Amino acid sequence: MKQMAFDLDFDKHFNASLVMACDHCGKETSRHLKSLAPDTVVRCSCGCDIEITSRHILAATERQRQIKSSYRLMT
Ligand SMILES: [Zn+2]
Repeated sequence: MKQMAFDLDFDKHFNASLVMACDHCGKETSRHLKSLAPDTVVRCSCGCDIEITSRHILAATERQRQIKSSYRLMT
């Protein structure tokens, strides 16, 4: 199974967005992490689908937790 590339982005209120790179065109699509449900399909502007599984959401939520706690250490 192919591993989806994703990253996290935070706005000034510390709401996380999941940023996913399209396999085909490389374009990044972002969705608010809170608004994502497992097994959501996000349509890239090139027309291909990016599937978000519960595993991605779990990994993103875990990374969000780590990033938030490291920010707290710095401030
Ligand atoms: Zn695409």
